[in-house]
Amino acid sequence: MTQRQLIDSFGRQIRYLRISVTDRCNFRCFYCMPEAHANFREREHILRFEEIEQIVRVFVGMGVDRVRLTGGEPLARRGLLRLVERIGALEGLDDLSMTTNAAMLAGSAQALRDAGMHRLNVSLDTLSADKFREITRGGDLDAVLDGLQAARKAGFDLVKINCVAMRTINDDEIDDLVRFCLDNDFTLRFIETMPMGDLGYERQTYYLPLTEVMAHLEQRFDLVPAVMPGGGPAEYRQLRGTRLRIGFITPISQHFCARCNRVRLTADGMLYLCLGQEHSVDLKALVRAGCSDAELEAVIREAIRRKPERHEFAEHPDKVIRIMSETGG
Ligand code: SAM
Ligand code: SF4
Repeated sequence: MTQRQLIDSFGRQIRYLRISVTDRCNFRCFYCMPEAHANFREREHILRFEEIEQIVRVFVGMGVDRVRLTGGEPLARRGLLRLVERIGALEGLDDLSMTTNAAMLAGSAQALRDAGMHRLNVSLDTLSADKFREITRGGDLDAVLDGLQAARKAGFDLVKINCVAMRTINDDEIDDLVRFCLDNDFTLRFIETMPMGDLGYERQTYYLPLTEVMAHLEQRFDLVPAVMPGGGPAEYRQLRGTRLRIGFITPISQHFCARCNRVRLTADGMLYLCLGQEHSVDLKALVRAGCSDAELEAVIREAIRRKPERHEFAEHPDKVIRIMSETGG
């Protein structure tokens, strides 16, 4: 282990930076953003590409080798391809990926691939066009399916589908989603809903522990334990005799904080040390003041020492007041 690596006070090495490139979105998924949300950051407060690049360069110098672009909807950020090219060219960065709702992917998948994007995760909670419109408050399922096809055509061969599993919303579609991913050679990942921000309803109503989903699937399909290189906190099963892998991301029912290796940069330059806590440091103020890479590194190292041991979503579900699209899910 070299001295350059980023180790927090619990001995966890930070190797993964998630960057929200915008807090805006073309959808308003009911579990992510309040319907009337209008409190978006003004343009001048959003990090410019050269500022993001400096921050990523400094992180990569400290052993971070994975970066994910997220949001809000990353494809809603104008000129995103230029950022992908700049970050993708950084020496030492092994994995550049993006999480997207894919509604605008059809027209940009090839260009993203050419610019240096390695992998895509696409969020898809239902295969019903009506339900999709309700969940996303207006989204068009066909646009997302076209985006997925375009991703495949462009050569993204390890596309992961992120599905937030919700009681009474999509718990009747679990088998259909499995078949959809099997037929299309996508990896499927179920996610538990996390309590972030006040969205005007009782979240517990829809919370579905993934232990139930796994138990259901184990009865229906022949699943065996699987490993997924770079699979993050998800526990994986594989459908025997196929390439289909299904991941279960269980922040609530079985948190994985002891293995946490990530931090998050918001669109307006706040570095959050934990999705479920408020500890943060303002990196925008520093880079706008023209700090050197060495100065930035010192501030990041100090911040990492303050990374909390774990979130408390289960014990204190009202603790986090910022909504998911602001932090970058
Ligand atoms: N707009 C992009 C998308 O939807 O893929 C990227 C940003 S979105 C905030 C990233 C991921 O967070 C999505 O997979 C979304 O389903 C998930 N997400 C949003 N709110 C959530 C919540 N309250 N609990 C769990 N996952 C959530
Ligand atoms: Fe937008 Fe993604 Fe949030 Fe849905 S989950 S509102 S697509 S940022």
